[in-house]
Amino acid sequence: MTQTDVTARARTASVPAQPSVVTARAWLQAPPAASGVLRVRPLPSEATASYVQRLATAYRLTLPQLLDGAGITLTGHGTLPTAELHLSPAACHNLAAMTRIPLPHLARALPRLAPNGDVRRTAAAARWKRLEAAQQPVRACTLCTRHRNHNATDTAWVHRPRHRLVCSRHHQATPDPRLTSPIYTGAVPELAAASYAHQRLLRHPRAATAWTTARAITTRWYDHQQHCTHRWHTRLTQLCATNPHLTTTSSASPALLARDLVTYPETVALARTLAVLPHQPHRTTDDVLSLIAHRLALPRLDSNTNDPLRAFLTHTRH
Ligand SMILES: [Zn+2]
Repeated sequence: MTQTDVTARARTASVPAQPSVVTARAWLQAPPAASGVLRVRPLPSEATASYVQRLATAYRLTLPQLLDGAGITLTGHGTLPTAELHLSPAACHNLAAMTRIPLPHLARALPRLAPNGDVRRTAAAARWKRLEAAQQPVRACTLCTRHRNHNATDTAWVHRPRHRLVCSRHHQATPDPRLTSPIYTGAVPELAAASYAHQRLLRHPRAATAWTTARAITTRWYDHQQHCTHRWHTRLTQLCATNPHLTTTSSASPALLARDLVTYPETVALARTLAVLPHQPHRTTDDVLSLIAHRLALPRLDSNTNDPLRAFLTHTRH
């Protein structure tokens, strides 16, 4: 037992109101070589609150106890994934010191950590901030989390970049923050193939705009049951059959929760075609529609003037 532990225990005995906080400080301020110092690495794109929670779990503390132990004042209340933890520059500094991970490394892994600012002029403070649905993190692949966490927990939340929808190693995806556990995609192998094709799309300079356009178009097709309805229905049925939690999540229908995943192969294929279109200016709108139909493995794309794809092509090519 180290000197710090003894002191902490003695203090614990005399101050029964806050025993865990005193112990937390003792734990967290132990020298790096001391036994019991835990290495918890962040996951790529992890939510700050998720990482702090995993740290707390590793030390067998609550999140407020861990922050207090690191000398960070916490205000407000919140839970993942509907809220995120914002740290002041001084608090970021304390977090880096406690985890013994250099701050630039932490900031690279945690996209919502904003360590810039004058550390000396800010108090070490953390506050919960509610997030809009579109900004909320999603459950990370449980097997990646387990591996990274030495089996201590399989729960982590990530602000996932668009091109990381499917974990291609473990065939898991969380297309919607309302899903409390990921969807297993092994029954639908074209999703893993789409994930690889998406990585190739990223090399293209127009990848981001092509993706945004393609996603808006396939989302509209899905909601209005156009073009790929039968295929998407089959895919959704396969996903529901292997993921009972999709049908028991009460906050939304499986069709809505799985939408981004069900349409993913067509969104990627459409985005890849749209990204290279400016290099084929001689084609007419009808030529392009039949090219896209071919790429989507559809006999043809019967589209009226209200079809979002035809509207997009007409608008951008004239
Ligand atoms: Zn994984």
